[in-house]
Amino acid sequence: MKSPVFFSDLKVESKKTLLDKLDILLDRVDLKGKVKERDLVAVKLHFGEKGNTAYVRPIFLRRVIDRVKQCKGKPFLTDTNTLYIGTRSEAVSHLTTAFENGFTESVVNAPVLIADGLRGNSAIKVRIDKPIFKTVSIAREIDMADVLITVTHFKGHELSGFGGALKNLGMGCSSREGKLSQHSNISPQVKKKACKGCEICLSWCPQSAISMVPSESGSENKPSIALIDSTNCIGCGECILACPSSAIQIQWNESIPIFQKKMAEHAYGAVHKKKGKALYLNFLTQISPACDCYGYSDTPIVNDIGVLSSEDPVAIDQASVDLVNGEPGNRSSKLPGAWNPGEDKFRAIYPKVDWSIQLAHAEEIGLGSRKYELIKI
Ligand code: SF4
Ligand code: SF4
Repeated sequence: MKSPVFFSDLKVESKKTLLDKLDILLDRVDLKGKVKERDLVAVKLHFGEKGNTAYVRPIFLRRVIDRVKQCKGKPFLTDTNTLYIGTRSEAVSHLTTAFENGFTESVVNAPVLIADGLRGNSAIKVRIDKPIFKTVSIAREIDMADVLITVTHFKGHELSGFGGALKNLGMGCSSREGKLSQHSNISPQVKKKACKGCEICLSWCPQSAISMVPSESGSENKPSIALIDSTNCIGCGECILACPSSAIQIQWNESIPIFQKKMAEHAYGAVHKKKGKALYLNFLTQISPACDCYGYSDTPIVNDIGVLSSEDPVAIDQASVDLVNGEPGNRSSKLPGAWNPGEDKFRAIYPKVDWSIQLAHAEEIGLGSRKYELIKI
């Protein structure tokens, strides 16, 4: 069966702005039917790394928030901490970055919460019984919310080809442990040279998998360094953030097809308790070649296209990628080819990444349908 995907292009008139069209998109996916009085509504977005400018502008989020409030729901804006060390790796830096990027309550009319807590370990194990994972680790406040609305900036991504609703759900709604399990199939490793022997990581490891061993230099300043016993490590990721010297490295070793399937299974875990209580909005604007996790945004690969809404995260991503690929490519951007409408822009940028794997696996595990009907408003 085809899933409806509603589409608004960017053409506006003085009496019908893009913000008004956003209202119509929300009505078409029956926001009122999903948000009941006093429902806690998580509006999940990417606040953008410091220096990035391509994320969805706060003014659009405010309109989503206002509509949720009209339905008497209690909305909050939210995202989860990153696995890597950057400007969003714990809640204090993350909130500071969000505020600097314009996501303050005075602008968006709702509180801003970090869904997986101060250090990315506030999580719930959600049982999904899927081919790779029996359980996945989802950010607690996402799981606890009554309603989930994703607002996604659609763009390129080096591991999934593109970053859309599935990535916003799968990676974006998982805890640090969930993120690590998608990116790696082995435990983190201590960089011998960077380790200062402070022993801080030992107290953070819930498995006692870290011990101190004599350093090769054996110097008085650094008689010992940390070593992770991979047989005891459960991949929770606590030590990565705990180390003040950034000496604990993620082994980014997962193959791209498996990564995409793992991401789809985490996406399933983020929403499977929210039947009839989840909505997806994709913004096909400033479609940069790479993720908003970078501290910059490169020239868009195609012109701005519009905004989509759907109740099906698979259908909205399939429709989004089809719309992007249907455009002529921007020759002034990083796009190395695929200039003609109909040619695969994301495959041109990331030739080794087959983005369709995430969609196929998401469909196979029952998250949605790749068949869609595009309904223009
Ligand atoms: S916290 Fe970092 S620097 Fe300190 S012992 Fe552990 S790995 Fe080494
Ligand atoms: S990932 Fe978790 S279990 Fe593994 S060494 Fe680090 S803190 Fe310990």
